Amino acid sequence: MNKSAKKKTDDRMEKIVSLCKRRGYVYPSSEIYGGLNSCWDYGPLGAELKRNIKTFWWETMTNRRDDIEGLDSSILMSPKVWEASGHIENFTDPMIDCKVCKGRYRADQLEHARCMKKPSKTPLQCDGEFTEARNFNLMFKTFMGPLEDESAVIHLRPETAQGIYVNFLNVKNSSRQKIPFGIAQIGKAFRNEITPGNFIFRTREFEQMEMQFFVHPDEDQKWFEYWMEQRMNYYLELGLDKDKLRWHEHGPDDLAHYAKAAYDIEFLFPFGWQELEGVHNRTDFDLSRHMEHSGKDMRYFDERFTEKFLPYIIETSAGCDRTLLTVLVNGYDEVEIKGDTRVFLRLSPKIAPIKAAILPLVKKDGMPEVADKLYRELRGKFKVFYDHAGAIGRRYARMDEAGTPYCITVDGQTLEDQTVTVRDRDTMENPRMALDKVGEFLAEKVG
Ligand code: ATP
Repeated sequence: MNKSAKKKTDDRMEKIVSLCKRRGYVYPSSEIYGGLNSCWDYGPLGAELKRNIKTFWWETMTNRRDDIEGLDSSILMSPKVWEASGHIENFTDPMIDCKVCKGRYRADQLEHARCMKKPSKTPLQCDGEFTEARNFNLMFKTFMGPLEDESAVIHLRPETAQGIYVNFLNVKNSSRQKIPFGIAQIGKAFRNEITPGNFIFRTREFEQMEMQFFVHPDEDQKWFEYWMEQRMNYYLELGLDKDKLRWHEHGPDDLAHYAKAAYDIEFLFPFGWQELEGVHNRTDFDLSRHMEHSGKDMRYFDERFTEKFLPYIIETSAGCDRTLLTVLVNGYDEVEIKGDTRVFLRLSPKIAPIKAAILPLVKKDGMPEVADKLYRELRGKFKVFYDHAGAIGRRYARMDEAGTPYCITVDGQTLEDQTVTVRDRDTMENPRMALDKVGEFLAEKVG
C-alpha cells in the first residue's frame, strides 16, 4: 500500500471514531479518567443502533422461524464447563515480546499490529527482535465468593456457545423441538486479547450473537451449506454492500481441532479484509465432551430413528459490536456539496437509531404545533426526533450525519393542504405526502 492510500484508510477510521464521539454513538470507556484500553461505551445513538442490530438478528434467527428457540444463559458458569470444552487447555493465542520496543504482540497477527515505538510500522517492519512465542490463555479469571484461593477461581465466559450446549437437554425437553432445530443466544463475552484494537473491532468485552443448530450427522453438510447461504443473505438484508463481503475458508492450518469445516464471512474494513462472522461444522465434539465430563446422556432419540445418536452442530457465530462497526464503515460517505464536504451515514432504515426527524420549517405560523402533534403521534411507534433549532439545511445535515433516513418537514403548505415533505437521506428527493400517511410510510420503510 502506498503512503497516500494508507493515509486515506487511517483517515477514514479516524473520521468514523470522531463521528461516533460527536454524534453519541461510541465514547471511550471511563473517559474522564483517561479511558480504559479496548473498552468502549455506547452513547444514545449507539445504544439504539446496537439494540436494533440485536433485534434484527433475533427476529431473523428466532421469531421469523419455528425451528429455533432463544436462550439467555449466565456469564459465570461451572469451572467444569471450561475443562470439558477445552478452553482451559486450548483457548490460547501465541504471544511474543519485542526485545527492542518492549511491545507484546499476537504472533499470528503481526501484520495487523502497530509497533509500540513506531506506530506507523508493523512489528515486522521495525527491525525488532522477538522472543519465542508462548501460549497465553485468553479467559478472564475472577473469584466466586469471599475466598480468593484456587478453589474459588471462576472465568468470565469467552463465548456464549457453551451456555447453549449445556442447556441442550433442557431446551429440547421444554420446547419439544425435534431435530433439526437450533438454539440462539445474544450475550456478553470476555477475552483478554493480547492486542485489541481498531476501535470496537477487537475489544476485551464484547457481545456475541450465536446460534447452534443441532442436526443428524448424516445431514451436516446440507445444513452447513444452508446456514452459509442464510447468513450471507442476512448481511445483504442488513444493507451491506455485496462487493465488501466475501467468504474465507479455514484451511488445514487454521481449522480448529474440533471443526470439520469452517468458513468466515469477511468484510472489507479500512484496515483490510477481516472476519465478521464464523459458520462452523463443530461435529459432535461439544456434546460428546459435555456428556463425558458431566456423565449426562446428551444423545438424541425420536421415533424417526432406529438408535440414539449425538447430534452434529452447525454454528453461526457473529459479533454484535463488530457488526455495528461494519454498518458504520459501510455507511460512512462524504459528498462535496457546494464546496463543503458533507458526511452521510447511510444506515439501513431497519437499524438506523432515529427513523425520522420531524422538523417545522420555521418556528412560527403554527408550524411547530403541527410538527409537535405529528411527533407525538409517531413517538412510541418509531424512534423519531423533533428539532426546531436552526436553519433547515443545518438540521438536515445533522440528521444525515446521524444516519437518519427521513426528514419530515412541516411548511407553509402543510397548513393549507395537510401535506408534508418527506426527504430521503440517500436520494435527496423530497416529495410531498399527506400528513396522515406518514405513519404508514414509515412502517413500510423501517419494518
Ligand atoms: P480471532 O481469531 O480473530 O481472534 P475468532 O475466530 O476466535 O477470532 P470467534 O471465536 O469465531 O472469533 O468469534 C465469533 C465472532 O465473535 C467473531 O466473528 C467476531 O465477530 C466476534 N468476536 C470475537 N472476538 C472478538 C473481540 N475480541 N472483539 C469483538 N468481537 C469479537
